[in-house]
Amino acid sequence: MLKLISRLWMAALTAIILLNLGIPAPTTYAQENRLSVIGSTTLIADVVGRVAGDAADVTPLIGYGVDPHAYEPSAQDIVALDEADVVFINSATFEEGLIGVLEEAAPENLVTISDCVTILPFEPNKNPVDATHDDDTSNIADQCASHFETLAALGVEVNPSSTLENGVEPLGLLYEINCTAGNHDDSADANSGHQEGNCDPHLWTDVRNVMLWTLMARDVLSEADPANAAIYAANAAAYLAELVTLDAEIAGLLASVPEKNRILITNHETLGYLAARYGYQIVGSIIPGGGTANEPSAEDITALIETVLDYRVPAIFTENTVNAALAEQIADETGASVYQLYSDSLTDADGPAHTYIDYMRANATTIMTALTEK
Ligand SMILES: [Zn+2]
Repeated sequence: MLKLISRLWMAALTAIILLNLGIPAPTTYAQENRLSVIGSTTLIADVVGRVAGDAADVTPLIGYGVDPHAYEPSAQDIVALDEADVVFINSATFEEGLIGVLEEAAPENLVTISDCVTILPFEPNKNPVDATHDDDTSNIADQCASHFETLAALGVEVNPSSTLENGVEPLGLLYEINCTAGNHDDSADANSGHQEGNCDPHLWTDVRNVMLWTLMARDVLSEADPANAAIYAANAAAYLAELVTLDAEIAGLLASVPEKNRILITNHETLGYLAARYGYQIVGSIIPGGGTANEPSAEDITALIETVLDYRVPAIFTENTVNAALAEQIADETGASVYQLYSDSLTDADGPAHTYIDYMRANATTIMTALTEK
């Protein structure tokens, strides 16, 4: 036991010394008490996995190609969640079937990786969310402020305090607001996980928000496993640099689309953050309400067909986690083309979008191709 403690001490000391000197991370890892980490979705697990590198085990809970909105945890999943050292979730009403279970249990290993992200509403300026009732938010406020500073030093501005260029009014940082408020009333669409105007959880489609995930993952892994803190810091810094490059690359791809064609209709509304970041307009989605549980009425479909014709939308986007039949029907009736994007899940290792970076690149390339061809 003493031997173990002294080895951990040595590792922690080494980590502190390396952090202070800015020396590249060692290639051997402290293996005692190796962390076992779960990311609720494949997107989160990929990003946390980049920060963890070889120093911790990171696995997704919800599988590749599975719709997280509709996902219900199994008894086996509950055991895995309980046994993990850290469980990262997106929250903001994304993992609808999982959050209820987790919030009821309120396990200590649960971390909302998006806490410092500025949340946008599904429908601008409508149905504001409640302020959170959490009394002590000073720690997370300081943590977010430090993340904003880190990104500002990389030339990346986050946390806009005013209305965005496309007219969308941000709701606030995730930790400041209560996204589930309003989900318990019995209005007509209460069976959807999302109310109109409620929090849009698809925040990873703005690369800056994944930079914030990266910093949160670094902090949390370092606290849970101080012996490997230098490795997590070095991995996070390297990944951040890749994300800064990716953000510029995505902006370049999407800016090459003629301005009049920068309009998006998706199967369920997944691109609000991408639209706000890269200057696009969302004119409709096939499934109303933001989640994937609702079905459009005949009137909804007629209205959407009119929108496609009015805006001369060249292409409609389907996705890898939800059925495309309605999109095909609307495309048939309007002459719009149909292209598939990757939405709420990465592909498995055989697919072209197995990492977050490949996912963003594939989607931006598809959007560019779809909207510039006519
Ligand atoms: Zn979704």
